[in-house]
Amino acid sequence: MESLKRKIIEEGRVLSENVLKVDAFLNHQIDPFLMREIGKEFAGRFAAEGITKILTLESSGIAPSVMAGLELNVPVIFARKRKSLTMTDGLLTASVYSFTKQETSEVSIASKYVSPDDTILIIDDFLANGQAAQALLKLADDAGAKVSGIGIVIEKSFQHGRKLLEAKGVRVESLARIQSLKDGKVTFVQEAVE
Ligand code: 5GP
Repeated sequence: MESLKRKIIEEGRVLSENVLKVDAFLNHQIDPFLMREIGKEFAGRFAAEGITKILTLESSGIAPSVMAGLELNVPVIFARKRKSLTMTDGLLTASVYSFTKQETSEVSIASKYVSPDDTILIIDDFLANGQAAQALLKLADDAGAKVSGIGIVIEKSFQHGRKLLEAKGVRVESLARIQSLKDGKVTFVQEAVE
């Protein structure tokens, strides 16, 4: 997605060879116009899949997911990172290991919002080593739902997430694929023009 790549070049900041900061439009301040475009792009890519619900992770997955939900005319559920006081029964939980923080945390959803009749599109802001996406897959699986694919806004293709997810037979659609963050520079994966 060219407009997203342009935004990454113009407003992203390479913090290290492994970390890209996009607080200017996705992780802190949000660009609603770009989010709308992102939502349309995800909706187009998964239009034929009969998606009934979008599953994401708070907080940065919510904006692109809501825009995709609007386009596909389906609800969005976000897994919570902290247990809510009002979310008491019927919880499904999964562990997420963060390589950057070197810690494991729990994420959860209320089981009543995902059923075996659902066909789910998982969306997240970044794909690195695939741990967050894998936890969302487990939540959908525990709910008995079908997962049609995973939509990622920014994929760091030099990390292992895509391989891990594809090995599970899951379709991964990333809107920007980064090949390298070396020398403080963002280089995208060269993709064949369709
Ligand atoms: P994974 O679980 O795939 O290893 O990492 C994905 C999660 O870690 C995303 O949900 C995102 O919040 C965070 N993340 C991983 N790499 C980056 C990065 O380079 N920049 C930002 N802003 N977040 C990242």
